[in-house]
Amino acid sequence: MNKAIGFLVALSAVIGLTACGESATEHSQSMPESQSSSIAGSQPQYAGSGATTETMEDLKEQLLGRSSVPSAPTANEPGGLSAQESKPAQAAAPSQAFAEGDWSLVLVNAQNPLPETFTVETQAIPGYDDRQFDARAAQALVSMLDAAQADGCHLYLVSSYRSVSRQTALFTRKTNFYKAQGYSQQDAETEAAKLVARPGTSEHNLGLAADIVSADWYQTHDDLTADFETTQAFAWLQNNAASYGFILRYPNGKQAITGVDYEPWHYRYVGPTAAAQITAQQLTLEEYIEQRGEHA
Ligand SMILES: [Zn+2]
Repeated sequence: MNKAIGFLVALSAVIGLTACGESATEHSQSMPESQSSSIAGSQPQYAGSGATTETMEDLKEQLLGRSSVPSAPTANEPGGLSAQESKPAQAAAPSQAFAEGDWSLVLVNAQNPLPETFTVETQAIPGYDDRQFDARAAQALVSMLDAAQADGCHLYLVSSYRSVSRQTALFTRKTNFYKAQGYSQQDAETEAAKLVARPGTSEHNLGLAADIVSADWYQTHDDLTADFETTQAFAWLQNNAASYGFILRYPNGKQAITGVDYEPWHYRYVGPTAAAQITAQQLTLEEYIEQRGEHA
Protein backbone atom coordinates (compact mmCIF):
# COMPACT_ATOMS: atom_id res chain seq x y z
CA MET A 1 0.00 0.00 0.00
CA ASN A 2 1.47 3.35 -0.90
CA LYS A 3 1.92 6.00 1.72
CA ALA A 4 -0.85 8.32 0.52
CA ILE A 5 -3.47 5.59 0.51
CA GLY A 6 -2.27 4.32 3.85
CA PHE A 7 -2.66 7.78 5.29
CA LEU A 8 -6.18 8.13 3.90
CA VAL A 9 -7.22 4.77 5.31
CA ALA A 10 -5.82 5.70 8.71
CA LEU A 11 -7.47 9.11 8.52
CA SER A 12 -10.86 7.70 7.63
CA ALA A 13 -10.58 5.26 10.51
CA VAL A 14 -9.91 8.16 12.86
CA ILE A 15 -12.75 10.22 11.38
CA GLY A 16 -15.08 7.26 11.69
CA LEU A 17 -14.28 6.88 15.34
CA THR A 18 -14.57 10.55 16.21
CA ALA A 19 -17.73 11.14 14.17
CA CYS A 20 -19.75 8.47 15.95
CA GLY A 21 -17.87 5.85 17.90
CA GLU A 22 -18.10 2.11 17.59
CA SER A 23 -20.73 1.98 20.27
CA ALA A 24 -23.16 3.70 17.95
CA THR A 25 -25.15 0.50 17.47
CA GLU A 26 -25.33 -0.47 21.13
CA HIS A 27 -28.82 0.90 21.58
CA SER A 28 -30.12 -0.64 18.40
CA GLN A 29 -32.66 -3.06 19.86
CA SER A 30 -35.54 -1.29 18.23
CA MET A 31 -34.48 -1.37 14.63
CA PRO A 32 -33.32 -4.35 12.60
CA GLU A 33 -29.95 -3.94 10.93
CA SER A 34 -31.43 -4.66 7.51
CA GLN A 35 -33.93 -1.86 7.76
CA SER A 36 -31.30 0.60 8.82
CA SER A 37 -29.01 -0.22 5.93
CA SER A 38 -31.77 -0.31 3.34
CA ILE A 39 -32.84 3.20 4.26
CA ALA A 40 -29.33 4.51 4.57
CA GLY A 41 -28.33 3.01 1.24
CA SER A 42 -31.29 4.12 -0.82
CA GLN A 43 -31.37 7.15 -3.03
CA PRO A 44 -34.11 9.77 -3.05
CA GLN A 45 -36.62 8.48 -5.57
CA TYR A 46 -39.09 11.30 -5.96
CA ALA A 47 -36.94 14.35 -5.59
CA GLY A 48 -39.03 17.43 -6.11
CA SER A 49 -42.31 15.55 -6.31
CA GLY A 50 -43.64 16.61 -2.94
CA ALA A 51 -43.65 19.56 -0.68
CA THR A 52 -40.91 20.17 1.79
CA THR A 53 -41.33 21.40 5.32
CA GLU A 54 -37.96 23.06 5.28
CA THR A 55 -37.46 26.03 3.09
CA MET A 56 -34.74 28.53 2.49
CA GLU A 57 -37.01 31.05 4.16
CA ASP A 58 -37.33 28.91 7.24
CA LEU A 59 -33.65 28.14 7.30
CA LYS A 60 -32.70 31.77 7.08
CA GLU A 61 -34.90 32.37 10.08
CA GLN A 62 -33.18 29.58 11.91
CA LEU A 63 -29.75 30.84 10.95
CA LEU A 64 -30.60 34.27 12.30
CA GLY A 65 -31.64 32.67 15.55
CA ARG A 66 -28.56 30.49 15.83
CA SER A 67 -26.69 30.87 19.04
CA SER A 68 -23.38 29.60 17.81
CA VAL A 69 -22.03 28.02 14.69
CA PRO A 70 -20.82 24.60 15.72
CA SER A 71 -17.06 24.72 15.78
CA ALA A 72 -14.91 21.81 14.69
CA PRO A 73 -16.28 19.21 17.04
CA THR A 74 -14.14 16.47 18.46
CA ALA A 75 -15.00 13.42 20.48
CA ASN A 76 -13.75 15.10 23.62
CA GLU A 77 -15.45 18.41 23.16
CA PRO A 78 -19.06 18.64 24.22
CA GLY A 79 -19.62 21.80 22.19
CA GLY A 80 -23.16 23.10 22.52
CA LEU A 81 -24.28 20.50 25.00
CA SER A 82 -22.45 21.67 28.07
CA ALA A 83 -25.36 20.85 30.34
CA GLN A 84 -24.60 17.17 30.00
CA GLU A 85 -20.90 17.16 30.78
CA SER A 86 -21.30 15.67 34.21
CA LYS A 87 -23.39 12.73 33.08
CA PRO A 88 -21.89 9.27 32.71
CA ALA A 89 -20.41 8.36 29.34
CA GLN A 90 -23.19 5.91 28.56
CA ALA A 91 -26.52 7.62 29.06
CA ALA A 92 -29.06 5.73 31.10
CA ALA A 93 -30.82 3.06 29.08
CA PRO A 94 -33.73 4.56 27.20
CA SER A 95 -36.92 3.71 28.98
CA GLN A 96 -40.65 3.97 28.79
CA ALA A 97 -40.30 6.81 31.29
CA PHE A 98 -40.58 9.39 28.53
CA ALA A 99 -44.04 10.86 28.47
CA GLU A 100 -46.52 9.87 25.80
CA GLY A 101 -50.20 10.16 25.13
CA ASP A 102 -52.72 11.45 22.63
CA TRP A 103 -50.77 14.72 22.56
CA SER A 104 -47.68 12.94 21.24
CA LEU A 105 -49.61 11.36 18.36
CA VAL A 106 -51.21 14.51 16.97
CA LEU A 107 -51.10 14.35 13.19
CA VAL A 108 -50.04 17.52 11.43
CA ASN A 109 -49.87 17.68 7.65
CA ALA A 110 -51.38 19.59 4.75
CA GLN A 111 -54.77 17.96 5.35
CA ASN A 112 -54.59 18.31 9.13
CA PRO A 113 -53.42 21.81 10.00
CA LEU A 114 -53.19 23.08 13.53
CA PRO A 115 -55.64 25.87 14.37
CA GLU A 116 -54.37 29.43 14.20
CA THR A 117 -54.84 29.62 17.97
CA PHE A 118 -52.71 26.56 18.77
CA THR A 119 -50.24 27.06 21.58
CA VAL A 120 -48.07 24.66 23.52
CA GLU A 121 -45.93 24.97 26.62
CA THR A 122 -42.35 24.76 25.50
CA GLN A 123 -39.01 24.36 27.19
CA ALA A 124 -35.61 25.64 26.09
CA ILE A 125 -33.04 23.11 24.95
CA PRO A 126 -29.80 23.56 26.92
CA GLY A 127 -26.82 24.75 24.92
CA TYR A 128 -28.89 26.71 22.40
CA ASP A 129 -29.98 30.34 22.63
CA ASP A 130 -33.25 29.88 20.86
CA ARG A 131 -34.44 26.30 20.56
CA GLN A 132 -37.74 25.39 22.17
CA PHE A 133 -39.49 22.02 22.31
CA ASP A 134 -42.77 20.76 23.77
CA ALA A 135 -42.07 20.72 27.51
CA ARG A 136 -43.43 17.18 27.84
CA ALA A 137 -40.89 15.82 25.34
CA ALA A 138 -37.93 18.13 25.84
CA GLN A 139 -36.18 15.71 28.19
CA ALA A 140 -36.41 12.93 25.61
CA LEU A 141 -34.76 15.18 23.03
CA VAL A 142 -32.02 16.24 25.42
CA SER A 143 -31.43 12.62 26.43
CA MET A 144 -31.09 11.58 22.80
CA LEU A 145 -28.62 14.37 22.00
CA ASP A 146 -26.77 13.37 25.17
CA ALA A 147 -26.58 9.71 24.30
CA ALA A 148 -25.28 10.49 20.82
CA GLN A 149 -22.63 12.72 22.36
CA ALA A 150 -21.63 9.90 24.69
CA ASP A 151 -21.21 7.71 21.61
CA GLY A 152 -18.90 10.31 20.06
CA CYS A 153 -21.62 11.55 17.76
CA HIS A 154 -21.89 15.33 17.91
CA LEU A 155 -25.41 16.16 16.76
CA TYR A 156 -26.64 19.66 16.03
CA LEU A 157 -30.24 20.80 16.46
CA VAL A 158 -30.92 23.06 13.48
CA SER A 159 -34.57 23.76 14.09
CA SER A 160 -37.27 22.85 16.57
CA TYR A 161 -40.44 24.67 17.66
CA ARG A 162 -41.80 27.49 15.55
CA SER A 163 -45.15 29.05 16.52
CA VAL A 164 -48.13 29.08 14.17
CA SER A 165 -48.09 32.87 14.27
CA ARG A 166 -44.43 32.87 13.20
CA GLN A 167 -45.34 30.48 10.39
CA THR A 168 -48.18 32.81 9.39
CA ALA A 169 -45.80 35.76 9.25
CA LEU A 170 -43.37 33.81 7.03
CA PHE A 171 -46.16 32.64 4.75
CA THR A 172 -47.76 36.09 4.47
CA ARG A 173 -44.43 37.68 3.63
CA LYS A 174 -43.85 35.19 0.83
CA THR A 175 -47.43 35.56 -0.44
CA ASN A 176 -47.06 39.35 -0.55
CA PHE A 177 -43.87 38.93 -2.52
CA TYR A 178 -45.83 37.16 -5.29
CA LYS A 179 -48.79 39.56 -5.10
CA ALA A 180 -46.39 42.42 -5.71
CA GLN A 181 -45.49 40.64 -8.95
CA GLY A 182 -49.12 40.70 -10.08
CA TYR A 183 -50.31 37.30 -8.85
CA SER A 184 -53.87 37.00 -7.51
CA GLN A 185 -54.22 36.22 -3.80
CA GLN A 186 -54.89 32.54 -4.51
CA ASP A 187 -52.10 32.14 -7.05
CA ALA A 188 -49.69 34.00 -4.78
CA GLU A 189 -50.53 31.63 -1.92
CA THR A 190 -50.05 28.62 -4.18
CA GLU A 191 -46.60 29.85 -5.16
CA ALA A 192 -45.73 30.73 -1.57
CA ALA A 193 -46.75 27.27 -0.39
CA LYS A 194 -44.07 25.74 -2.60
CA LEU A 195 -41.45 27.50 -0.48
CA VAL A 196 -43.02 28.02 2.95
CA ALA A 197 -45.35 25.58 4.69
CA ARG A 198 -48.85 26.99 5.14
CA PRO A 199 -49.56 28.17 8.70
CA GLY A 200 -50.32 25.24 10.99
CA THR A 201 -49.22 22.56 8.51
CA SER A 202 -45.58 22.43 9.58
CA GLU A 203 -44.84 19.83 12.25
CA HIS A 204 -42.50 22.40 13.76
CA ASN A 205 -45.60 24.39 14.74
CA LEU A 206 -46.57 21.49 17.01
CA GLY A 207 -43.38 21.63 19.06
CA LEU A 208 -42.58 17.94 18.59
CA ALA A 209 -40.38 18.09 15.50
CA ALA A 210 -36.63 18.53 15.47
CA ASP A 211 -34.29 18.96 12.53
CA ILE A 212 -31.11 17.20 13.54
CA VAL A 213 -27.84 16.80 11.66
CA SER A 214 -24.26 16.33 12.74
CA ALA A 215 -22.27 19.41 13.63
CA ASP A 216 -19.50 18.63 11.17
CA TRP A 217 -21.92 17.94 8.29
CA TYR A 218 -23.71 21.22 8.99
CA GLN A 219 -20.48 23.15 8.78
CA THR A 220 -20.18 22.21 5.13
CA HIS A 221 -23.85 22.65 4.15
CA ASP A 222 -25.89 25.86 3.86
CA ASP A 223 -29.11 23.95 3.44
CA LEU A 224 -30.62 20.71 4.69
CA THR A 225 -30.14 18.15 1.95
CA ALA A 226 -30.77 14.42 1.62
CA ASP A 227 -27.06 13.57 1.50
CA PHE A 228 -27.13 13.80 5.29
CA GLU A 229 -28.23 10.15 5.05
CA THR A 230 -24.67 9.15 4.18
CA THR A 231 -23.32 10.23 7.57
CA GLN A 232 -22.66 8.14 10.65
CA ALA A 233 -24.81 10.58 12.60
CA PHE A 234 -27.77 9.54 10.45
CA ALA A 235 -26.93 5.89 11.06
CA TRP A 236 -26.83 6.58 14.79
CA LEU A 237 -30.24 8.24 14.65
CA GLN A 238 -31.62 5.33 12.63
CA ASN A 239 -30.44 2.94 15.31
CA ASN A 240 -31.37 4.94 18.37
CA ALA A 241 -34.06 7.55 17.77
CA ALA A 242 -36.95 5.18 18.53
CA SER A 243 -35.54 4.42 21.97
CA TYR A 244 -36.04 8.08 22.82
CA GLY A 245 -39.52 8.21 21.29
CA PHE A 246 -38.52 9.73 17.94
CA ILE A 247 -39.24 8.61 14.38
CA LEU A 248 -37.86 9.57 11.00
CA ARG A 249 -41.00 11.41 9.96
CA TYR A 250 -40.57 11.67 6.19
CA PRO A 251 -38.87 8.48 5.00
CA ASN A 252 -37.73 7.89 1.47
CA GLY A 253 -40.32 6.05 -0.61
CA LYS A 254 -43.24 7.31 1.53
CA GLN A 255 -43.68 10.68 -0.16
CA ALA A 256 -47.07 9.69 -1.57
CA ILE A 257 -48.34 9.13 1.97
CA THR A 258 -46.68 11.99 3.82
CA GLY A 259 -46.90 14.52 0.99
CA VAL A 260 -43.40 15.60 1.93
CA ASP A 261 -40.07 14.89 0.27
CA TYR A 262 -37.55 12.62 1.98
CA GLU A 263 -36.04 14.45 4.95
CA PRO A 264 -33.36 12.39 6.72
CA TRP A 265 -32.91 15.23 9.26
CA HIS A 266 -36.51 15.64 10.44
CA TYR A 267 -37.42 13.68 13.59
CA ARG A 268 -40.79 13.67 15.27
CA TYR A 269 -41.47 12.79 18.88
CA VAL A 270 -44.32 10.27 19.14
CA GLY A 271 -43.34 8.56 22.42
CA PRO A 272 -41.36 5.33 22.90
CA THR A 273 -44.25 2.89 22.35
CA ALA A 274 -45.39 4.34 19.04
CA ALA A 275 -41.83 4.97 17.92
CA ALA A 276 -40.87 1.33 18.47
CA GLN A 277 -43.82 0.07 16.42
CA ILE A 278 -43.53 2.66 13.67
CA THR A 279 -39.81 2.02 13.28
CA ALA A 280 -40.03 -1.78 13.44
CA GLN A 281 -42.85 -1.87 10.89
CA GLN A 282 -41.42 0.92 8.73
CA LEU A 283 -44.61 2.94 8.92
CA THR A 284 -45.34 6.62 8.62
CA LEU A 285 -47.27 8.41 11.35
CA GLU A 286 -50.22 8.59 8.92
CA GLU A 287 -50.22 4.79 8.53
CA TYR A 288 -49.75 4.15 12.24
CA ILE A 289 -52.68 6.37 13.19
CA GLU A 290 -54.86 4.69 10.59
CA GLN A 291 -53.92 1.25 11.94
CA ARG A 292 -54.74 2.31 15.47
CA GLY A 293 -58.10 3.61 14.34
CA GLU A 294 -58.91 0.29 12.71
CA HIS A 295 -58.03 -1.64 15.86
CA ALA A 296 -59.76 0.72 18.24
ZN1 LIG B 1 -38.14 19.73 9.97
